[in-house]
Amino acid sequence: MSFVIDPPRQASAPVAGGGRFPVRRIFCVGRNYAEHVREMGNDPKSEPPVFFTKPADAIVESGTALLYPLNTENLHHEVELVAAIGKGGANIDARHARDCVWGYCVGVDLTRRDRQNEAKKAGQPWDVAKAFDHSAPVGALSPASQSGDKSKGRIWLSVNGEIRQNADLRDMIWSVPEIIAALSSTWALAPGDLIFTGTPAGVGPLRPGDQLACGVEGLSELKFSIAAR
Ligand code: MN
Repeated sequence: MSFVIDPPRQASAPVAGGGRFPVRRIFCVGRNYAEHVREMGNDPKSEPPVFFTKPADAIVESGTALLYPLNTENLHHEVELVAAIGKGGANIDARHARDCVWGYCVGVDLTRRDRQNEAKKAGQPWDVAKAFDHSAPVGALSPASQSGDKSKGRIWLSVNGEIRQNADLRDMIWSVPEIIAALSSTWALAPGDLIFTGTPAGVGPLRPGDQLACGVEGLSELKFSIAAR
């Protein structure tokens, strides 16, 4: 095949202990922890999961100094468990969904909250709020067999050493298998897909100079900082 320009680089995420996981698509779940759903003014049990996407090249690795994004004055952190798909399919049954997971990592769904609030009010798409450059920092992936039981365990995020988000995976409204079942009823999943599974309560604004650290029990920590744009 002869490309007329150089092909874009394959997006990928680091694997703990070495190697890279090639990233095809990034799916995200909104509203998946009851307390966060309430803090955003919604009833946790009233609606099915909300899905949105980020581009694969939004991935940022641990250790990065990330420029404060353009077009926002209210950048928010949302720490999330991320599942990496190793075996795809459509209409995957929740009972078999764990077989599709290659591994897990911690990630942050960076959000332009000001743009998201405007989009919600106007009934507009969320792309400007969620799918921007460098909006998907992730820690190193661990294979599922070495990640422990991801239906429970602490999930946390600190800014400048102060804990801002601190919850347990058992408080997720939809489990990873239920999310895979629901997602795959609308999109055929494929190897290389990442799924951000929603954030617990405690989301808040970030400023230039902030140092973030976050983790999920049993997985590699993710650290990054925000630099003035
Ligand atoms: Mn999120």
